[in-house]
Amino acid sequence: MAPGADLRQGVADLSTLANADLAELWRTVTNADEARAALQDILPALCETYGSASATLAADWYDTLREDMNIDGRFSAITADLGDQGGDVLARWGIGPLFGPEPDWAAAMVLIEGGLQRRIANGARDTITGSSYADPKALGWQRVGVGACAKFCQMLIDRGAVYSEGTARFASHDHCHCHAIPAFGGRPLPVKPYTPSVHDSTPAQKAGTSTRKTNVPVSDVDRLASLRGRLRAAQAAPGNNTIDIANLKRLIAGLGG
Ligand SMILES: [Zn+2]
Repeated sequence: MAPGADLRQGVADLSTLANADLAELWRTVTNADEARAALQDILPALCETYGSASATLAADWYDTLREDMNIDGRFSAITADLGDQGGDVLARWGIGPLFGPEPDWAAAMVLIEGGLQRRIANGARDTITGSSYADPKALGWQRVGVGACAKFCQMLIDRGAVYSEGTARFASHDHCHCHAIPAFGGRPLPVKPYTPSVHDSTPAQKAGTSTRKTNVPVSDVDRLASLRGRLRAAQAAPGNNTIDIANLKRLIAGLGG
């Protein structure tokens, strides 16, 4: 498995769940004004709910990785403080295509889904980068992904750089599936700089370094809907703003099987 692939998949699954909520909302509106009102009402909550789920997932992933690698010293990953994620800004921006001469609902949906995905993914990225700065055993973080989202991303991944505090913020775009993973001192770097020889190697060697993406079977709509319902129910307990991470992981694991 490519480094960080399980984290990327978990965060992508959260986006899938958020998009399903968005689709549900979309079905209830019939014109641009209704869409604006509904989005301004709901989008900030979607950003917060799934953004903090993503941050929690990443913190848990960081701690597990650290434990699996037997990194010594006591440290617990720090869940990023997401602050105002700009859900209302996204709502106003995303409905732009609805107010043209020909309202374009599909274009609006792409903008909103992209902005939502970015905000959700940032919950995990900020958690990993921030934790890698605070962790005395970490040198910083590296970018991981399949680079299929943008040439720019592939170029950054190929560099294999380790970023420490102050050197760079995580550069991303809407619909970007790149993530950050920590690099620990005295250990091999999880992401090596790209060298052509790896890619010119034999098919067997190529298979060994494959970073092929495995997708959630999103075609399984019923299954996703029921998972979403269960996740919702788990969150709906009164006064419970936190997400049961074990439960969430179980739900996400269920997506793949
Ligand atoms: Zn990207």
